[in-house]
Amino acid sequence: MPARRLAAKQEIALPDQRQRPDWDEYYMRIAMAARSRADCLGNRVGAVLVLDDRIISTGYNGTPANMTNCTDGGCLRCSQRDRFASGKAYDLCICVHAEQNALLAAARFGIATEGSRIFSTMQPCFGCTKELLQAGIEKVHYLHPWVYPDEQMQQTYQQLQQQFGGGMVAVEIEDEEANWAVSKGRTE
Ligand SMILES: [Zn+2]
Ligand SMILES: [Zn+2]
Repeated sequence: MPARRLAAKQEIALPDQRQRPDWDEYYMRIAMAARSRADCLGNRVGAVLVLDDRIISTGYNGTPANMTNCTDGGCLRCSQRDRFASGKAYDLCICVHAEQNALLAAARFGIATEGSRIFSTMQPCFGCTKELLQAGIEKVHYLHPWVYPDEQMQQTYQQLQQQFGGGMVAVEIEDEEANWAVSKGRTE
């Protein structure tokens, strides 16, 4: 039986020319995919932890496992937005942030986070920032900025942010779901 000849190179259909995402966009788009599972009346956030160009953990925000979802009234603080100002009283909020969930999933399964980077669809809040620092996170990449509502505390927040060896930088990509994900400006 005659050996089948390989198709000549020019006969192979080339995929459409497309923009291949760079690494930062790649990880941020995966964080956005994680965000699709977020369940919170406030911001909806996704995060991935990356070590040596490998994803070691992911997270999205919402109430702890097996508790009533935030959008079903599971979190008192989130459901009473008029009583609790944006960005405040997080100690009374039972929603676990995406960055916390990414760290905690790593802790749960014994994965070291030292020297890793985090890609989060929201700039980490006060609490997450200090936790990321103490977990040895080297650099933060975020999609949407988060500003502490109190000007004086914003200064402290910025001091905290400056502690990351690799800094805290924005990834400039389009977010088609920004209206759903970012509570500021949401009308419903
Ligand atoms: Zn919530
Ligand atoms: Zn947070």
